[in-house]
Amino acid sequence: MHIPPGFSSLNGELAIAGKPVSAWVEQAGDTPLFVYDRGLIAKRIADLRAALPAGVDIHYAVKANPMPALVGWMAGQVNGLDVASAGELRIALAAGADPARISFAGPGKRDRELEAAIEAGILLNLESAGELERAAGIASRLGKPLRVAVRVNPDFELKGSGMRMGGGAKPFGVDAERVPALLARIDALGAIFEGFHVFAGSQNLSAEALIEAQAKTLDLVARLSEGAPVRPRHVNIGGGFGIPYFPTDMPLDIFTVGKALGEKLAARPAVLADTKFNVELGRYLVGEAGVYLTRVVDVKISHGETFVIVDGGLHHQLAASGNFGTVIRRNYPVANASRFDALPGEPVNVVGCLCTPLDRLAEKAALPVTQVGDLVAVFMAGAYGLTASPTAFLGHEPPGEMLVG
Ligand SMILES: *Cc1c(COP(=O)(O)O)cnc(C)c1O
Repeated sequence: MHIPPGFSSLNGELAIAGKPVSAWVEQAGDTPLFVYDRGLIAKRIADLRAALPAGVDIHYAVKANPMPALVGWMAGQVNGLDVASAGELRIALAAGADPARISFAGPGKRDRELEAAIEAGILLNLESAGELERAAGIASRLGKPLRVAVRVNPDFELKGSGMRMGGGAKPFGVDAERVPALLARIDALGAIFEGFHVFAGSQNLSAEALIEAQAKTLDLVARLSEGAPVRPRHVNIGGGFGIPYFPTDMPLDIFTVGKALGEKLAARPAVLADTKFNVELGRYLVGEAGVYLTRVVDVKISHGETFVIVDGGLHHQLAASGNFGTVIRRNYPVANASRFDALPGEPVNVVGCLCTPLDRLAEKAALPVTQVGDLVAVFMAGAYGLTASPTAFLGHEPPGEMLVG
């Protein structure tokens, strides 16, 4: 089992933030339950700050995990929040995040979302010329300043990413060759141009690929800045830092990435001399700190295979079932949390309670002999878990969520 770092055992049980899982379940009242360990996230952020060059800010991409308590706490740990909808914006504002440090990207911002963003005074990452016109109209009607950055569809891709978001025809951002005209229009409309946003991809474990993408991002931004009416105050260079979901995955070497970024920034052209830079990360900050806890409802044998049936499933943790942007289904790390120290027995299938063959949480997993009532933990559940799952499917109750530690 490739359990992520930071989890231990206590009296034979899996412990999260120093308490056995049974205690967290008792406190929450029921399973299924997502538990997020604040201490692990804090450590992740501290390690990242040590690896990144001084002065490069860290932003949290709220879409990875929008749990309000988590977002509120994150607002105090990172330098900014990136939201992708008016709903996420509401969560960020309600959590007390500073509007000056919130930005909003997303390809289909509706008028009322633009209005909420402009009303709050946050930064809009423009995705198109049409969006600029609509935003400018709304800002003038409200009599509010319009703060914009241009999201650029990069003319390269982040090689080997789980999800590619740049290179070629894309719904995200503005093609590089269209940027000069957009900058002129921003100027003509009297909007406040703050800088650029480039996001090339997600879930990448290769330091080399990230270094190359960051270098190309800075070159692209420098080229676009040469022709801009104003120099960019701020550039969001994206993220894409991946986490090791599977046994063959090697953790990303952030020190190598940070060192190369430092060298690239030290040699940046004069046009970017006064520019501030940030990365924006979702899963890298929170993914490994979350555990999805379910309880075994039934154990049965079919044609020689053992099926451990739990009270959760893909309606809460779609990604672990392999149905959220994966080509080949592989097991997320999973454990019998009630018998965390016990030796594995025959491999078992862990399935959810939904009446669909898609609802598999682990196939042929090396768990100890598992009984009805045991708690099963699925790791790597801190990002794109509950928020990326079809909770209404089959009408079960929503799971609990706890931020602990
Ligand atoms: C999804 C997304 C992120 C977060 O991606 P992770 O892989 O979770 O780090 C950041 N920025 C943008 C623009 C995104 O669309």
